[in-house]
Amino acid sequence: MKDYIVRGTAANNQVRVFAATTREIVETARQRHNTSPVATAALGRLLTGGAMMGSMMKNEKDMLTIQIKCDGPIQGLTVTADVAGNVKGYVENPDVMLPPSAKGKLDVANALGLGVLNVIKDMGLKEPYLGQTILMTSEIAEDLTYYFATSEQVPSSVGLGVLMEKDNTVKQAGGFIIQVMPFVEDAVVEKLEANIANIESVTTMLDKGYTPEKILETVLEGFDVEITDKMPTKFECNCSKSRVEKALISIGRRDITEMIDDGKPIEMHCHFCNTSYEFTVEELKEILKKSR
Ligand code: ZN
Repeated sequence: MKDYIVRGTAANNQVRVFAATTREIVETARQRHNTSPVATAALGRLLTGGAMMGSMMKNEKDMLTIQIKCDGPIQGLTVTADVAGNVKGYVENPDVMLPPSAKGKLDVANALGLGVLNVIKDMGLKEPYLGQTILMTSEIAEDLTYYFATSEQVPSSVGLGVLMEKDNTVKQAGGFIIQVMPFVEDAVVEKLEANIANIESVTTMLDKGYTPEKILETVLEGFDVEITDKMPTKFECNCSKSRVEKALISIGRRDITEMIDDGKPIEMHCHFCNTSYEFTVEELKEILKKSR
């Protein structure tokens, strides 16, 4: 099954809903970065949340960045998403290993430890939107829930899950975001809260093979859910040698000259997809001409 996001509404537009299946995204991230199981789970959750949050933006060129800076052994995570379902990301320390949590799960909370969550939305305005909150549980879904409530003033429920195979490849990944609009009736909120208190974890639902549609039906049992949109989502990095070259040109003549004087090829690295680009001294000389 290819990855996709569904969007919809419930209770006469008082509730808006998102759900995604992201196995391929998370498995691609795992392979690109060679992440340990707990790092795969952490990055996979943030990529899944990011893909859905990216799809909430309005314009084609809008870019969403979610950055976690934390004191746990994973050190930090960065995810970037656009409005069309393209998402990419990395962790600072892909090798982090921890014993399972008390519940026998991958211990994402202790991999992250304490920290802050930054949400940056570049919508082509002079200043990007920046929302910053502290990590509440460091499990990522609850931290995004807290971000929505405090920074965007949108009461939300976020569920995210990554399930691993025994061989440490990704078996399932996905999640949901439920948000209530300002004019929501109390009865709708009460019913939603009761539903969410009673649902199984996202990982359990994924393990049963639930599609995003089925996850929404389960979370919103008793509501009339209308799916309004279904869009593909994928791990995609837009880096290329020519983009890296443009970045090199922008660092200025002095630094490029220094690199040429070193007489060795240089390697430029893209953190998001873990690709390295080599530039020979001859290529650097060409770049120096262009930076004039
Ligand atoms: Zn890249």
